[in-house]
Amino acid sequence: MSRVAGNELVMDRGEGAYLWDTEGRRYLDATASLWYCNVGHGRARIAEAAAAQMKVLETYHTFGRFATPAALELAERVAGMVPIADARVFFGSGGSDAIETAAKLALRYWNALDRPGRRTIVTRANAYHGLHAFGTSIGGIEANSVGYGELIADVARVDHADAEALQRLVDERGADSIAAFFCEPVMGTGGVFPPEPGYLDAVQRICRDNEILFVVDEVITGFGRTGAMFGSDRFGIEPDMMIVAKGITSGYLPLGATIVAERVWAPFWAEDPELMFRHGITYAGHTAACAAAMANLDILEEERLTERVLELEGPLLEALRPLEQSEHVLAVRGGVGLLAGVQCRDQATADGVAAECVSNGVIARVIANATLQVSPPFVVDQSDIDLIATTMQDALAAVPSPA
Ligand code: PLP
Repeated sequence: MSRVAGNELVMDRGEGAYLWDTEGRRYLDATASLWYCNVGHGRARIAEAAAAQMKVLETYHTFGRFATPAALELAERVAGMVPIADARVFFGSGGSDAIETAAKLALRYWNALDRPGRRTIVTRANAYHGLHAFGTSIGGIEANSVGYGELIADVARVDHADAEALQRLVDERGADSIAAFFCEPVMGTGGVFPPEPGYLDAVQRICRDNEILFVVDEVITGFGRTGAMFGSDRFGIEPDMMIVAKGITSGYLPLGATIVAERVWAPFWAEDPELMFRHGITYAGHTAACAAAMANLDILEEERLTERVLELEGPLLEALRPLEQSEHVLAVRGGVGLLAGVQCRDQATADGVAAECVSNGVIARVIANATLQVSPPFVVDQSDIDLIATTMQDALAAVPSPA
């Protein structure tokens, strides 16, 4: 906090891809806040949908037999959008909640099947799955789990790009010890790593061959970010569980969901009253948040924003590619939707570049691996993309050369 004190940036207003701070300075939001503002800022229609819902019923819980029309409509809509046959939806308040739900459900599932030895959750180096206890433990960004001791046992990690590493782990430990494998279709906070060709197919096959639950974290990639509705569509995979949050409302209200295939939900619908998934949080499926999500999805579909993302993915990478010429840049990664990362040679350089960009009116943010996150709202145009690239170019030129 000592680094923040006296240096706060207080955001006041937003419209489209732009923001204004309390001093009236304008910024291009090159990160869509924390990767979530897919439809852009200042959408009165979403605010009105939430307000209209609140006037009728602000919210009601969704425990047991209780539900609301907004939660039911959204669950049905989302279940119909995902590439999972006969999906069921379990709402929460955000991504970390949904990860927690998926991890607990994976363990509960194997217990329900009388195979409690399947306990290990496998994830990848550099993975980010939120910061609740499960997310912190299964995440692969080391710095995030330092200083707590062991939060959750039975966690294993494999290389992020090598499917054979998963196979080796299964061979070493035995499939009967592994509950689930979690992965992001395009790794986000770890530094923006699109999957190697064939990687996702290969890990899906290893999971299927070994009965391991294949859990796909689409918190960033869901709802258009990759140029398809979901990363799973883009890469042709069919998860056993899918995690979504962020883009489901574009951040207008907090919401997340764990979307579950029949294999996983079926035991809990069986006629055994003892067999239940005793889990839920107060604001799961918050009614006004569901109403906001419906309006957000209407905008996404009516304005064909996912198609727009696909059209812009090439131009974004093309605009950023020249940054690789800088002595400060190790790599530019992208080419899948409006998602890119500019990896700098070290953390101090990345921090300096990000600060310079913000001073010059483009919001930049440093994620793991000294990488600058680029993930603008879907409403950006070519001139906005060029502004991101030229501002980063200027910022790279302004930071000191390596000694
Ligand atoms: N999973 C992924 C891939 C994420 O990027 C994030 C957040 O950035 C999360 C999970 C956690 O979501 P939340 O911050 O809404 O809890």
